[in-house]
Amino acid sequence: MIVVFLGIPGSGKGTQAKRLAKLLDVPYVGTGDILRDNVAKKTPLGVKVSQIMKNGELVDDETIIELIKSEIKDKPSFILDGFPRTVAQANALENLLSGFGKKVDCVIFLDVSDEEVVRRITGRVFCPGCRREFNLYTDGLKEEKCPVCGGELLRRSDDTPETIRKRIGEYRTKTAPLIEYYKTRGALNRIDGSGAVGEIFSRIREALDNKFKRQTAN
Ligand code: AMP
Repeated sequence: MIVVFLGIPGSGKGTQAKRLAKLLDVPYVGTGDILRDNVAKKTPLGVKVSQIMKNGELVDDETIIELIKSEIKDKPSFILDGFPRTVAQANALENLLSGFGKKVDCVIFLDVSDEEVVRRITGRVFCPGCRREFNLYTDGLKEEKCPVCGGELLRRSDDTPETIRKRIGEYRTKTAPLIEYYKTRGALNRIDGSGAVGEIFSRIREALDNKFKRQTAN
């Protein structure tokens, strides 16, 4: 099964995609995490994309498509988070998969209001020690300390107000057209992305169950 998560930065894609990957026991492929890892390790790719990410801009299609090719080549099933982000990337993915007689089975589009997105991003923190992610507001943390290991919680370097505005702009012009793209292919599932993490996850599971039932009935 190949599932793509689509949504504005801060919509909760990463949290939900990781949860689904765990439940289905399939690999989670998140381009943002892979790139951040490369930046931290100062690999040639990391050095190339570091400033682009800090600016809140999208990395060029060619670089990202090369990256995704090597990530998915040996994986029969996976959950994609943060890819595709442009129509060119979606076309490349479609071509790549059709070579293996496959396609994107389901796109989960997390629909969240602008106010909620800003609230979520400004509360987003992570623990560099145990690498867990939290939200100061939705997880109700009273101090910026990791509730699991006690480490100092940090914010992502691209979660500043200015960069967030830029990333939302990039999403609207380059990524939002993918909603229509996947709608016309009958793969889009719009999910209400408001509420608690568990509630949203139940909606995603329900959408996947229904889709799977429809597929087996056909
Ligand atoms: P994310 O963690 O998914 O919000 O991604 C963080 C940053 O990584 C983005 O703001 C982009 O700079 C870069 N990035 C991640 N995925 C892609 C992609 N598919 N295309 C272009 N840039 C990407």
